[in-house]
Amino acid sequence: MKIISSINEMASFVKDAKSKAKSIGLVPTMGYLHQGHLSLIKEARAVTDMVVVSIFVNPTQFEPGEDYASYPRDMKRDALEAEKAGADVIFAPRAEQMYPESYSTYVKVEGLSEVLCGRNRPGHFRGVTTVCAKLFSIVKPDIAFFGQKDAQQSVIIQKMVKDLNMDIKLKVLPTVREGDGLAMSSRNKYLSSKQRKDALVLHKALDQAKSVIEAGENDVSKIKERMRNIINKVDSKIDYISIVDPDSLKDVSIISGRVLIALAIWIGRARLIDNIIVTRNQ
Ligand code: AMP
Repeated sequence: MKIISSINEMASFVKDAKSKAKSIGLVPTMGYLHQGHLSLIKEARAVTDMVVVSIFVNPTQFEPGEDYASYPRDMKRDALEAEKAGADVIFAPRAEQMYPESYSTYVKVEGLSEVLCGRNRPGHFRGVTTVCAKLFSIVKPDIAFFGQKDAQQSVIIQKMVKDLNMDIKLKVLPTVREGDGLAMSSRNKYLSSKQRKDALVLHKALDQAKSVIEAGENDVSKIKERMRNIINKVDSKIDYISIVDPDSLKDVSIISGRVLIALAIWIGRARLIDNIIVTRNQ
C-alpha cells in the first residue's frame, strides 16, 4: 500500500490507473479508523479495482472553537488497518496544500445544509462539500463510499453530485455499532467510562422510537418526548432530535411511510450523532 501526501502525485497515480482502465473507489475519512471506516474500505475493495482511502482532518468543516486541533489522529495505526482492509493507497494531503493562503472556492448545497446538524454548525457542510468536491476532482473515483452514520452528509453529497453533474456513483453503507449498540465514531475516544455508558442513550432513544412507531404511534411530538425522557436520564445536552423525510430532510409531524430519525447529543465534550430509518406501514 502506498501513502501519498502530494496532490500532484495522487493525480498522476490516478491517471496511470485510468490508463489501465481500472475503476477507482474512494473512501473519504478524517482518520482514526474504526470498524465503520473499515466496512467502507472492504466494500470498496470488493467492487472497485483501485481503493483510495483519504485521511484528512478537514479544517473547513470545523466551526471556530470546535475540536479541530484535538481531533484524534494516528496515521501509523490507520495505515496498518487500511492496508488490512484492502486499501491500495492512503491519500493524506497536508492542509496547506489543500487550502493554500490564496484559497477562495467553496461549494455549498443550500437548504439541506442548514437543517439538523447544520443548525448549530452553520459552516460545517460547506466544508464537507468543498473537501469532497476537491477529493472527487483529484481522485476521480467511479464510486465513493459513505456511511449511513452521517445520514445528512450522504444526502447532501448526493445532491452536490447531482446538481454539479459529477460522474460519480455514491454507495452508502449501514452504520457499524459496538456490541451494545453505540455507533462507532472517532469521537467516542473523548468519553470517560461513565460517559461511554451514558452514550448508550442515543441508541436506546432511537430503538424506543422505532418500537413505538411499529406499535402504531405516528405523532412525532409524542415520539420525541419519549426520546427526550430517555436522554435526559443521563448527564447530557440535546443539540437536536429530529424526525424528517429521508430525502428532503424536511420535518414531518405525522409519520406515514419512511422517516429518518436523527439526533445529536453532547456527552461531556463529545458531540455524538446517530440515526435510523424507520418505515411505518399504512
Ligand atoms: P469520518 O472519519 O468520521 O469523517 O467518517 C468517514 C466516513 O466513515 C463517513 O462516510 C462516515 O459516515 C463513515 N462512518 C463513520 N462512522 C461510521 C460507522 N459507525 N459506521 C459506518 N460508517 C461510518
